[in-house]
Amino acid sequence: MSDPLLVVEDLETRFRTDRGTVRAVDGVSFSVDRGETVCVVGESGSGKTVTGESLTRLVPSPPGEVVGGTIRFDGRDLRRLSESELESVRGNRIAHVFQNPQDALDPVYSVGWQIREAVTLHRDVSTSEARARAVDLLDRVGIPDASVRVDDYPHEFSGGMKQRVVIAMALAAEPDLLVADEPTTALDVTIQMQILRLLRDVQAEFDTALLLITHDLGVVAEVADRVVVMYAGKVMEEADVYELFDSPSHPYTRALLDCLPGRGEGARAIGGRLPDPTDPPDGCRFHARCPHAVEACRTGDQPPMVPAGDADHTVSCVYYQPGYDESVVTNGRGPENDGSEVVDG
Ligand code: SF4
Repeated sequence: MSDPLLVVEDLETRFRTDRGTVRAVDGVSFSVDRGETVCVVGESGSGKTVTGESLTRLVPSPPGEVVGGTIRFDGRDLRRLSESELESVRGNRIAHVFQNPQDALDPVYSVGWQIREAVTLHRDVSTSEARARAVDLLDRVGIPDASVRVDDYPHEFSGGMKQRVVIAMALAAEPDLLVADEPTTALDVTIQMQILRLLRDVQAEFDTALLLITHDLGVVAEVADRVVVMYAGKVMEEADVYELFDSPSHPYTRALLDCLPGRGEGARAIGGRLPDPTDPPDGCRFHARCPHAVEACRTGDQPPMVPAGDADHTVSCVYYQPGYDESVVTNGRGPENDGSEVVDG
């Protein structure tokens, strides 16, 4: 088997604020294989967006800074690259798609001009070849009459069509990795599904790996091969998507699944709120909200990632360590935590 395309190890990204140093990403590790779709999922404040932005130094600096870890992409550590070396990777081999397509498009230029710019930035082609490529990309992302619409301006497109244009721009250089951060959140539900299908189709067609950042487990179920669950700057669980939905092992993952509207009357919001990112608690970051927390959860470091079932399914929870009974978590027995630590939020 070939090496993963992207290997992130012990990534640490911090923000210096008036309130103190925010440890937004605190020792995060995961990998993405070529052509694979990995979803990073978690609540707002989990660190998932900063993780995606840290890959190509998109974190605003100051106040943000990647202070630790390695980001190995196709064998090279991106953290060691100069700004100019990284520029040849950003947009070219790793492209980003963000939540709001409006922000990614310049209102004073036609979409064709903007896609041509993206093409010529990364490829040595003539203007007419770049235009033909722009039309082809618009066509491939499902813009009807692409040869005509190529001369239209962003305001002449709907929200869903704008996001298609942004995806076409991101694909201009045929990147190896597409990082899409909540790419459907600003769109209405029917358009969301079209964009997700589009991402899946272009990924298959271009053999692009996809790192999709989302708070929405419905989106995860639709597109993911593998899932990384983050909470308060840490990875809590990682598993194949079927395994994660069939056998969620971390209490936080189980709580996220319990929030899904499909649970009907069984749906439950997660009580409490995320810990203060400038002063995270000792032990497991989830302990104040966890119904199974015991004394060992409140001391030391975040529990290490250990196998839960098969080797590709790992979880950061004391109940999967020797001497503990994991069925307490998986059968929902307990609670050992009497709820006194849960802070209403
Ligand atoms: S049982 Fe302890 S270690 Fe496991 S998720 Fe709950 S608080 Fe964290």
